[in-house]
Amino acid sequence: MAELINGKELAKEIRLKLKEKVEKENLKPKLAVILCGDDEASKVYVRNKSKACDEVGIEFEEHLLPTTTTQEELLNLIDKLNNDENIDGILLQSPIPKGLNIEEAFERIMPEKDVDGFNPYNVGKLCIGEDGFIPCTPLGIMKMFEKYNIDLEGKKAVIVGRSNIVGKPMAQCLLSKHATVTICHSRTKDLKEELKDADIVVVAVGRREIIKADMIKEGAVVIDVGMNRNDEGKLCGDVDFENVSKKASFITPVPGGVGPMTVAMLMNNVIKAYEKRRK
Ligand code: NDP
Repeated sequence: MAELINGKELAKEIRLKLKEKVEKENLKPKLAVILCGDDEASKVYVRNKSKACDEVGIEFEEHLLPTTTTQEELLNLIDKLNNDENIDGILLQSPIPKGLNIEEAFERIMPEKDVDGFNPYNVGKLCIGEDGFIPCTPLGIMKMFEKYNIDLEGKKAVIVGRSNIVGKPMAQCLLSKHATVTICHSRTKDLKEELKDADIVVVAVGRREIIKADMIKEGAVVIDVGMNRNDEGKLCGDVDFENVSKKASFITPVPGGVGPMTVAMLMNNVIKAYEKRRK
């Protein structure tokens, strides 16, 4: 039976450490979040981020933009926040309404305030192994490996999903720790074949139970990023948790795994931005 990687506990521990640091060093970090449109899930994510900021002692400023917002209006707001000396981090919650160009918006957020690590400058820094902002989900997963003493060097890691926010930066993070990395996606010919001797599996697809027990090697470490709803409306991941946990050595649950770590890493990145800007 797999050991559970308790993201909820670890995230709490990290938030507490950050809170102590903020109080002890009298830091005054501030995060600005842009929520554009009326995506219901995004509202919940933003609320969770706001709660975490409160807990840690990060000032939180929310900018709500209507669905009718133009690209120019969105970029103007980003410019204003870039120029605001009191703001350390800027986060544009995705998705944004159709017709708006999110890549252009991410690129507009100045690299020093890009706490999500989506600006091409920070993407490049991660690729060449220089210190910048690393996207919160892969960063949180790396902290989990560290906490549970999961050695990555020389291991075969397979990532399922190649998005810019999870799959691709995850690959760079694993590579930086000397894993041998394979990235799978919707055009991968034989997913089961790719996974069969993977020591580390990170799944970020957004499809319930796409990963079944017969696809996983005995003793594999399984990280489930997916967030889906089951037939009863309950949150669940991309992995058939019940059966995969009988074969894996470590596994993350959903909820209580990767999700809380993503938020904790955002807090980490805001404080990092605050400190870097003042150096
Ligand atoms: P995207 O939709 O951007 O990417 C999904 C990826 O899965 C794509 O690369 C796609 O391939 C691939 N894919 C789709 N179908 C298959 C298949 N049958 N076999 C193999 N690969 C497939 O999603 P995100 O990366 O943004 O998110 C993935 C999931 O993780 C979602 O459920 C999301 O809600 C969750 N998430 C959770 C976070 C957390 O903090 N817990 C944070 C971010 C995301 P292709 O590129 O070819 O289309």
